[in-house]
Amino acid sequence: MATVSKTLTRSMPSLAPREDLNPYRISQMQFDIAAEYLKLDAGLRQVLRTPKRIMEVAIPIKLDNGQVKVFTGFRVQHNVARGPAKGGMRYHPSVTLDEVKALAAWMAWKTATVNIPFGGGKGGVICDPKRMSKGELERMTRRFTSEILPIIGPDRDIPAPDVYTDSQTMAWIMDTYSMTVGHTALGVVTGKPISLGGSLGRNEATARGCLNVVEEACKIKRINLRGATVVVQGFGNAGSIAARLFLEKKAKIIALSDSRGGVHNPRGLDPLKAQRFKERTGSVVGMPGGARISNEDLLTLKCDILIPAALENAVTLENAEQIQAKIVAEAANGPTTPRADEVLARKNIFLLPDILANAGGVTVSYFEWVQNMYGYKWSEEEVNQKLEATMKRAFADVYETSRKYHVHMRTAAYILAVGRVADATMVRGLFP
Ligand code: NAD
Repeated sequence: MATVSKTLTRSMPSLAPREDLNPYRISQMQFDIAAEYLKLDAGLRQVLRTPKRIMEVAIPIKLDNGQVKVFTGFRVQHNVARGPAKGGMRYHPSVTLDEVKALAAWMAWKTATVNIPFGGGKGGVICDPKRMSKGELERMTRRFTSEILPIIGPDRDIPAPDVYTDSQTMAWIMDTYSMTVGHTALGVVTGKPISLGGSLGRNEATARGCLNVVEEACKIKRINLRGATVVVQGFGNAGSIAARLFLEKKAKIIALSDSRGGVHNPRGLDPLKAQRFKERTGSVVGMPGGARISNEDLLTLKCDILIPAALENAVTLENAEQIQAKIVAEAANGPTTPRADEVLARKNIFLLPDILANAGGVTVSYFEWVQNMYGYKWSEEEVNQKLEATMKRAFADVYETSRKYHVHMRTAAYILAVGRVADATMVRGLFP
């Protein structure tokens, strides 16, 4: 009998409840917590937690070898009560509709957190851009744009770069849209090349906004940024520029990583050298001056500031207990699960949630759109000053909300953002 039960126990899956890592359900859990604090009525909750519009399209393109391949793409508009939908386009093999729905919802709460007149949207294509030629990427982007064209536009929904898309991708979207509608429409995308109506400062904006709010958090945690130790997971647009800007403030970047792994040196790494090494070899792994470290071990290094800047679910119940940072600044979207949030809060780790910490990108996207719509050209200094003012105002609003409701910074940001969208929705009323 003992043998039988032992065998049974071994072959049965663990009965402990596993953590839900579905990003869409996570985004709804985060919303529900705020809705409860705000005592929203059931009808309004349904309106705010449901995506307004979902479009799924087939994207057939001719590959370089002459064969035809059909990709799947999505565009989701979560909420447009406060203005046109706004949000990035992601090209990645693991894109799913649920991921895009989560990212669209997070955009709606993010634009409300920094109080810019946009709603939230997001797009994605299931593809592996690292294995595609520039020509294939261009044909896929143009066909995707053409398929979602009825729902995008400067007054409807304005895409921007996200994981594995860049200013060139935005230029193709802008050109395809403009050729179809018959006039040049600069405001249909943001994150464009500077020569095509892009804003000075947009490329660095996500990282710079993250730095702005970390500076505020450092004041509260009494950490001197000069000499503070920083770990960055994800060495792309957000992460690599964050590493550079934190170094400019004399912080010490002790570890960096990308999808292939990381490098670590407790005496400090030079992000500019890492950038050059990655441009040559495709990864930061193996760069001189650092020892190899896995992405898992990197997250649990002892440091003052941890910046997850890659993908969702980096900090989960599996590793939250081992996180040793004093501040976690979410440059990525959705890097921490709700269960991990609870652990970090219990450990008194100051969390700067994604909808605040990486909102610098959408803030300067808004500035780019304003410049495009009005034909302005702002200097980089002006953009950075406006960005800093917006980020510091948003930090103060979120921090004040956290004190008022006695909640951690993520819940505070959600209470603030959901409250703003709820107000706009109620004052508009229900059509018809
Ligand atoms: P990117 O494509 O420029 O860079 C992504 C980086 O992450 C790459 O270096 C890649 O190698 C690395 N990476 C991928 N998988 C990884 C893994 N499992 N472990 C470690 N590293 C991994 O993308 P990005 O624009 O910098 O976006 C990164 C995150 O920041 C995303 O969550 C995105 O939604 C968020 N974000 C970006 C912006 C923006 O303006 N670009 C704005 C707000 C939020």
